Amino acid sequence: MNTNLQDFSHKRFNILTGEWVLVSPHRAKRPWQGQNEAVSNEQRSARDSSCYLCAGNTRINGEENPKYKDVFVFTNDFAALQATSPKFAVNEGLLKAESEQGICKVICFSPDHSKSLADMEVDDINKVVKTWQNEYKELGANDMINYVQIFENKGAVMGCSNPHPHGQIWSQSTLPNEVDKKNQQQNIYYNKNRSSLLGDYLKQELEANERIIYQNDDFAVLIPFWAIWPFETMIVPKKQHSNITKISDKESVGFADAISKITKAYDKLFECSFPYSSGIHQSPTNGESNKHWHWHMSFYPPLLRSATVKKFMVGYEMFGSPQRDITPEQAADRLKNLIQ
Ligand SMILES: [Zn+2]
Repeated sequence: MNTNLQDFSHKRFNILTGEWVLVSPHRAKRPWQGQNEAVSNEQRSARDSSCYLCAGNTRINGEENPKYKDVFVFTNDFAALQATSPKFAVNEGLLKAESEQGICKVICFSPDHSKSLADMEVDDINKVVKTWQNEYKELGANDMINYVQIFENKGAVMGCSNPHPHGQIWSQSTLPNEVDKKNQQQNIYYNKNRSSLLGDYLKQELEANERIIYQNDDFAVLIPFWAIWPFETMIVPKKQHSNITKISDKESVGFADAISKITKAYDKLFECSFPYSSGIHQSPTNGESNKHWHWHMSFYPPLLRSATVKKFMVGYEMFGSPQRDITPEQAADRLKNLIQ
């Protein structure tokens, strides 16, 4: 690798979105005088009578959760998208709007209030993966739904209002911005090269072995060359599939293993329950073949230097481009050593 990348300012190209990120390695040495976040390392109990996600508890709308044993999914009581909202469009001069229909669900990963994915067994994480597959399939089969976004917000610093291990699934009639960018970039590459953009990228990464944190038979965990967040990672399937319903049972276990490995390493990095937003990007459910799609999962953690120092996306990043100090290679070295 060109050593200039570790010493001098440069920008890196994100092949999946077509955007650039500014990297400033020399700035990583500056002293921190900014805000410190509060760390909560309180031990939670396995059940909390005031938690609306715990088994058997009553939610705000009066419905009672079943006494579920592993994974539990329900339609979001305060959904951002609704299946019954009317269809309309506004085109008044330069004012443009379109209605959006959708279905939003909440998925409880475990009945145990005290756990996170990092504390769960691979077999139990695999049950979450199976549920993601079922939900993608079921929601995607609905004519109204053309895209299914699976994600998790973990930690108060990410705005997560409830510590119970859970994620969300928002499905909708059109492609959201981030997915639309990746859809276009992968399509352009596929049409030109007749191969997967992310598959070809992964081959190059495995060969370079500078940003790979972990791999098993079917998956690699890496810090993307163009990562924005200091410890951003991506789980990439070695075999190209357009979405998670296409993977085998063996691959499903391999995916659960990769999630387990990276979330455990994250918790060790700053010795805290590591906050992040994670999400799966995969093919639209628009009835097309989507041969250009190579599904993957990304983790965007906000922490920068310790459990209490968070990266802010402000100033130049709001007005110019995203920017990072510590290089992806330095971050990969640190995470790699924490994999067990
Ligand atoms: Zn709970």
